[in-house]
Amino acid sequence: MTSTDSVRLANITPNVFGQRFPGRLGHLAATLILGWLAACGGPGSGPVIETAQNPSGSVNATQWQQGDHLVLISFDGFRWDYLDRFDLPNFARIEAEGVRAEGMIPPFPSKTFTGHYTIATGLWAEHHGLTGNEFYDPERGETYSPGDRSKVEDGSWYYGEPIWVTAERQGMVSAAFFFVGSEADVQGVRPSYWYRYDGLISPERRVDQVLQWLAMPDASRPRMITLYFSDVDSAGHLHGPDSPELERAVRQVDNYLGRLLRGMDALPHANSVNILLTSDHGMAAYTADNIYPIDLADFDDVQAILNGPYGSVWVNGADPRRHRQIRDAIDDQCPPEVGVYLRDDVPSRLHFSNSRRVGDIVIVPPVGQMVIPAGQLAAAGGYTHGWDPGHPEMHGIFVARGPRIRPGSRTGRIDQVDIYPLMAELLGLVPAAVDGDISTFEHALMPRKL
Ligand code: AMP
Ligand code: ZN
Ligand code: ZN
Repeated sequence: MTSTDSVRLANITPNVFGQRFPGRLGHLAATLILGWLAACGGPGSGPVIETAQNPSGSVNATQWQQGDHLVLISFDGFRWDYLDRFDLPNFARIEAEGVRAEGMIPPFPSKTFTGHYTIATGLWAEHHGLTGNEFYDPERGETYSPGDRSKVEDGSWYYGEPIWVTAERQGMVSAAFFFVGSEADVQGVRPSYWYRYDGLISPERRVDQVLQWLAMPDASRPRMITLYFSDVDSAGHLHGPDSPELERAVRQVDNYLGRLLRGMDALPHANSVNILLTSDHGMAAYTADNIYPIDLADFDDVQAILNGPYGSVWVNGADPRRHRQIRDAIDDQCPPEVGVYLRDDVPSRLHFSNSRRVGDIVIVPPVGQMVIPAGQLAAAGGYTHGWDPGHPEMHGIFVARGPRIRPGSRTGRIDQVDIYPLMAELLGLVPAAVDGDISTFEHALMPRKL
């Protein structure tokens, strides 16, 4: 382990080291204890010890030691209209103290991995490379999927520059309590502190860890922090957006936010913390009579991901006649309202053409209609997401408060790609070149204090 390697130990909180042994000394102490723990077989079934290459060395460069902080929270599957449908005191507080967008438009497909990595990088899927939760890469000849840890943690699958990599490369300490991409060495860099995804880690524990990070001394305190909750997405899938269970989950995540805010209010530097509340997508219903099986048995030269709300089909070889032939065969099996496109013909508003990880043929059903592989047992109906983001049911939320955000301000619907440039601006980081644009927030942003 080199002096710039950092360590992450979830069940001994990093700030224990940070407070007692600030800066690099803290990391030396952590390294020694970690070595001992590893020799003892590690911490068992709990969160694991990880090492990361983080250019900050887990110590903020001098210019960041007095700077602002940013906590990016993603509430998976939190649809834009839930904010008004329920009485949510903690969301309402951030809304009143800052800016709220009418909604947030996700990338296509409106899936968890695609959307989160768009939030992190400011890029559409065709540029950041996560073209679905699951996708085929014809150049690698391999399929990426969330359950395959060797791929999820391999930075070579991820394009673009997530905000925590931007931070670390500029000497700012970052930390992630879950976020798609944060487990991988993207451009060889991970956050100083990160966790392998484990949905069983309690929300309270996640919140308390973020509070502990925020209580670390200036030199080592992470300035860029992420946090993630899946409760609302899970309730939406199981019971639907209009169910009492969904309402319960939304109220529950408001409580998690309350726990975080109470802890943050007690910090001496509370006023320098930006809080961004986001989600990756919304949720919508489908019924059994809107599910279309696609039979590709006649074609032995295709790889297909027929996910339900969208489909991507890769064809071996580059013969354009063959591509058209397969497109037409799929088109014949779908009703007219389902779009079946060659990759180059996908409507430009979907930003879903410029990557080999986009299928040679892309299927875009309207919301509520599904494409599945022939032979797969069709559901009796249910709730999901992934559809064309032109449908408002797929839109998420954006609410933010911070020292430079104008209280009580409002914007229209924003694109998810606009979050990264905003985060870079709020933290004072030089952003990577991205698809998003900070001008969306022009009226909500106050000038930087000199
Ligand atoms: P989906 O609704 O299929 O798009 O995905 C939602 C699910 O993704 C959540 O319920 C989580 O279990 C899972 N998830 C979220 N973040 C991660 C991650 N970083 N690694 C693996 N799975 C994740
Ligand atoms: Zn999701
Ligand atoms: Zn979901």
